[in-house]
Amino acid sequence: MSKQPIAPAVPGPAANASDMLQPVSLIDYRITGGFWADFQALNRGAIIPHCNGSLERVGWVENFRAAARGTLASDRVGRLFTDSEIYKTMEAMVWENARKSAPDLEARLAEYTDLLTQAQHEDGYLNTFYGYDGGPERYTDLNWGHELYCAGHLIQAAVAAERADGPQEFITVARRLADHICDRFGEDGSQALCGHPEIETALVELYRVTGERRYLEQAKIFVDRRGHKTLGDTMYKGRDYYQDSVPVRAAKVLVGHSVRALYLAAGAIDVAVETGDTELFAAVKAQYDRTLERRTYLTGAMGSNHHGETYGDDFELPSERAYAETCASVASVQVAWRLLLATGEVRYADVIERTLYNSIISSPSVDGRTFFYVNALQRRSPGIDPEPGVPSLRRTDGTRASWFTTSCCPTNVARLLASLSAYVSTTDESGVQLHQYAQGTLDTHFGEGRHVRLAVTTEYPNAGVVTVSVGETDGESWSLSLRVPAWARSATLIVDGEPRKVGPGRVSVNRRWSVGDEVRLELDLKPQFVHPDPRIDHVRGCVAVERGPLVYAIESVDQPDADLDLVAVDLSHAPVDSDVPVGIDGVVPVTLQGVRRTLADGSWPYGASDTEVIEAPQQLTLIPYFRWANRGKSTMRVWTARTDVPTGA
Ligand SMILES: [Zn+2]
Repeated sequence: MSKQPIAPAVPGPAANASDMLQPVSLIDYRITGGFWADFQALNRGAIIPHCNGSLERVGWVENFRAAARGTLASDRVGRLFTDSEIYKTMEAMVWENARKSAPDLEARLAEYTDLLTQAQHEDGYLNTFYGYDGGPERYTDLNWGHELYCAGHLIQAAVAAERADGPQEFITVARRLADHICDRFGEDGSQALCGHPEIETALVELYRVTGERRYLEQAKIFVDRRGHKTLGDTMYKGRDYYQDSVPVRAAKVLVGHSVRALYLAAGAIDVAVETGDTELFAAVKAQYDRTLERRTYLTGAMGSNHHGETYGDDFELPSERAYAETCASVASVQVAWRLLLATGEVRYADVIERTLYNSIISSPSVDGRTFFYVNALQRRSPGIDPEPGVPSLRRTDGTRASWFTTSCCPTNVARLLASLSAYVSTTDESGVQLHQYAQGTLDTHFGEGRHVRLAVTTEYPNAGVVTVSVGETDGESWSLSLRVPAWARSATLIVDGEPRKVGPGRVSVNRRWSVGDEVRLELDLKPQFVHPDPRIDHVRGCVAVERGPLVYAIESVDQPDADLDLVAVDLSHAPVDSDVPVGIDGVVPVTLQGVRRTLADGSWPYGASDTEVIEAPQQLTLIPYFRWANRGKSTMRVWTARTDVPTGA
């Protein structure tokens, strides 16, 4: 009698039966300690309650109450996309509840779901900004109106609820809304599309949990409809801004508004995978790969232009003017995850790691109550404090704000951290793959009903040893695969006490396992210099430091006597771990040797030859980039000048 594959109890985002690698159930990997357990605790204890509190305080939940009562009026508060922040927070709460980690969130989730049920129009439409007496008409501003974007976030949250035993009525609300959208924008309906992609991936995910093919077909319609200049011209690189200049399958690289481009890419991959459209899949994969090659920051962040929150040209990656929106990083993880599942290529797990550690968790402050919207790689002057008590209009300053008028980033961080365990491991017919290293246990099935239990012990990313021990196995042979990150210049795999050197990529051990067997991966975490592609003008002649998966930064707090724009690093001294106290728990500082430069101020910052420069030795202390701006106002650099590059060069 053949055994049937066991479906995951709580499928995570983008679970698809035909992928090369299968996501494990969200609750199968339990993060039990260490770095990521701390972040999940911060999310559960601070970030999500902060989001809920802010949504109430600024009146964005009240909009739904008014809609439910039928009293929405022109005094509705907030911008046109505020509904989506409730949906993303709901998604975060759903994932938390799946792990039974926050029973106190259940009542609020039920209340929000109730409100949505009551606020939904008879024909399934639901958006508090449009369609009430005296308010803006529905679908009168598809270029900028975000209606289908908001709908997409509602649907994603409802899909999460369906997967994770959330409120049952939520999926009914989502289906009614999706049915309305299919009726309105289907093959025979309005030939329009939303300026902000998001609905595409949401509809495919809804198809995955309901089996209703109509949703998949509508997602495909939206993907195919894009790129034909349906939307209007813009001041932000024309229709590139919302990816409506070139059909998705003909584009060569991601362009325009980076969050839009990445949500669209995720949706297009979903459509391609579910419909077997290999041409579409190859096109989007190539676009993302080229974007990684030429339009991505060291931190994994994307989108370098403040103008329209857009991608710059190839290698246009300024540090201080990096837009690098947190949401783009969350979206990039979603794209990389889909590509990892579909192709099995380990480099996409590397991208997820880089982006997670360096441009997603850089958003929340240590206390989880203020956030960066943009994640610049350099700050020349200390930021200004946001005005207390009001949503901040500033997104680009050097200090975090507790909430924004456009507050997409905090809620996106919340839903990603809440679902993090879904991104850690996968299975295939041959066994189990570990992609990210988090202390915890994996209790899962693979192949045709085979069961395995593993324990992962590690202090990653501060220490480089990852120990995997087998807790339960079926006595037959299977493969345990571990990712050796691309940054690892040296790595050792130890099986049965036998060490062997391994290189970056995926290393697999196939054997008949016994309970108690142990595999140890030792990654060399010695800090190292990183050099930029010479085509990145903004950081030519500069160097950065990484330690393991963490990008480091030099912050003025740690070298109060030096102007960070006038220090230079001496490459003849290797960076070393430091025990200098920096006042932040849980980080390993790094020390560099360099110089502090002094130069006379002239009346004109250009000339025929070098200005006279006086140099004095300077020891530099660096901290992980994601922890900067937690100790008062400061300046900061990821890329620093080198002593061996002449100052006038
Ligand atoms: Zn955002």
